[in-house]
Amino acid sequence: MVTSNAQSEDQRINVTKTFLPSIDSYASILQRAWDNVWLTNRGELILELEEKLKEILGMDNILIMNNGTIPIQIALKLLGNHGEIITTPFSYVATSSAIIWENCKPVFVDIEGDGWTLDPQKLEEAITPNTTCILATHVFGNPCDVENIDRIAQKHNLKVIYDAAHCFGVKYKGKSVFSYGDVSTCSFHATKIFHTGEGGASFCNDSELRKKIYYSHNFGHNGPLDFHGLGINGKISELQAAMGLAVLPHMKDIYSERKRAVEFYNAHIDFNRYTRLKIRDNTEWNYSYYPILFKTETALLDAQEMFNAKSIFPRRYFYPSLNAIPYINGQAMPVSEDIASRVLCLPLYAGIAEKELNRIVHILNQ
Ligand SMILES: *Cc1c(COP(=O)(O)O)cnc(C)c1O
Repeated sequence: MVTSNAQSEDQRINVTKTFLPSIDSYASILQRAWDNVWLTNRGELILELEEKLKEILGMDNILIMNNGTIPIQIALKLLGNHGEIITTPFSYVATSSAIIWENCKPVFVDIEGDGWTLDPQKLEEAITPNTTCILATHVFGNPCDVENIDRIAQKHNLKVIYDAAHCFGVKYKGKSVFSYGDVSTCSFHATKIFHTGEGGASFCNDSELRKKIYYSHNFGHNGPLDFHGLGINGKISELQAAMGLAVLPHMKDIYSERKRAVEFYNAHIDFNRYTRLKIRDNTEWNYSYYPILFKTETALLDAQEMFNAKSIFPRRYFYPSLNAIPYINGQAMPVSEDIASRVLCLPLYAGIAEKELNRIVHILNQ
């Protein structure tokens, strides 16, 4: 029984596979936490990871946290003012649920048909006197139309938060995509391209805003007696930072392994039958996901059944369109609903074998 389970587990191909550094390299970094007898509260591993990320990403104002959702909530707490938040229906549920959790109101604006990010042409008609922020997702690491979104936001005096959970390493027009908008957030969850097990970060261009974000993630205080208002616990631990420090040296290999798989799919999938995501011009992409669009939802469901029968588990990222989630009182979002019904993310991770990629493409093209 155990043996046969283990065998079928071996053959199983999931949509992603967490990159694990050698346990020895992780242990040697953890040793420093043991030596310090210090497991959290901005210990040396946290500070070192932050410094390295600053350098790699070219961002001065970064704060790493315990996941990628708390930074969204903190940004909305500081900038949302319980108002209407214009947001995308095509994202992971955390983008919408954070808005409702912070007692703000999500107002959806539909997405562009080829890049699947918030459509700035439909943005202005959604703005009301109660609008305070725009919260858009650079979905699958594909940058939003940041110029037009930022221009409209400035015209109407709105703040811009980008859910950049998928964007580790992405550059747009030569600089980190995290540098656009007022705040960008990233996730370092185990399924994301760079990870700390659980983790995330907040990025901004304003050191005063970073201070507010810092206080907010640390119960509102700075040191035991220095209070700066309401806060929550968004702190990352040394154990998670150690994982980040152990993964970071492998990022070049992770990108190139994923690039290899993406190029294989690009070369072998029959694109008379499927459409792929159009990455915005001037983007240095990170190969974080491989979504394809089927002609119909029925075709997608049939393919999913064939994949699953062969122990291959692509995922319907992102389905349903967030406006259709029961606790969200959604408006109709025809483009997003259509894309969400037909999109499937294919397995993509460092170390995926050519044999496995071949099995996947064979099913798609048959
Ligand atoms: C993963 C993800 C999040 C949440 O990040 P966590 O680290 O899991 O809290 C938010 N938004 C998007 C688009 C995501 O994919």
